[in-house]
Amino acid sequence: MSLTRVQQRLLVYATKNPDNGCWEWNGQIANSGYGRIKVKDHHGELRMQSAQHASYEAFIGPLPDGLLVKQTCNNRLCINPEHLELFDPVKSCSV
Ligand SMILES: [Zn+2]
Repeated sequence: MSLTRVQQRLLVYATKNPDNGCWEWNGQIANSGYGRIKVKDHHGELRMQSAQHASYEAFIGPLPDGLLVKQTCNNRLCINPEHLELFDPVKSCSV
């Protein structure tokens, strides 16, 4: 499998933890405690995205409108696509 540029950049900033399977983010961290990365959007413009959002789009697919990505492992810095799932911020009362 050949990796896209975004996938490669995400992997450069992540450390795979053999104990829990998490890919822990070592790049920039936002005030919210989540990782963040600058990626090109569909229009080719650079903008900040949360690392888990970028990882979801890079490894799984485009994020549907209005939905966000959260970690099923509750590790805010994890970007392992297998630990990511979509949630609807309107319907769910998360923290
Ligand atoms: Zn994880």
